[in-house]
Amino acid sequence: MVEKREMDVVEKVARKWLHERGVKIEDVAELVYFLQVKYYPELTMDLCRSNVDRVLAKREVQNAILTGIQLDKLAEEGKLEAPLQGIIERDEGLYGVDEIVALSIVNVYGSIGFTNYGYIDKEKPGILKYLNDKKNGCHTFLDDIVGAIAAAASSRLAHSQESTE
Ligand code: MG
Repeated sequence: MVEKREMDVVEKVARKWLHERGVKIEDVAELVYFLQVKYYPELTMDLCRSNVDRVLAKREVQNAILTGIQLDKLAEEGKLEAPLQGIIERDEGLYGVDEIVALSIVNVYGSIGFTNYGYIDKEKPGILKYLNDKKNGCHTFLDDIVGAIAAAASSRLAHSQESTE
């Protein structure tokens, strides 16, 4: 179950923007399930969902979401200045700032996040495949951010499983 607690405006807007850009908590929870079910066969979607929820409660994660989505939206509307407009619009491979923003999320729960992030970024399951398809809009930042949230939630889940064993 997702616990009830007070959310401030930054968290509310971060969650709203994720939703508006086509990313549901459920989609991210599915990525966590994909990453973790091989280690925890008893894993439930409920547990995945609640770990995603806890990651989204972190300020550094909310800040990364707001910054990344804002740049994606401005690029989609053609409102950035050259050469950044073209770089973000084309999702140029050597740009790399999208991955740097995502790493600020991966870092939140320690180093196992890195392995999960690298793996999911290579495999691109579920929602990540949708975000990578250019015809669904400009998601240069968001694809990395979503992968990073899933990786961080997986680390959190792994830590919590170890401490209850
Ligand atoms: Mg990217």
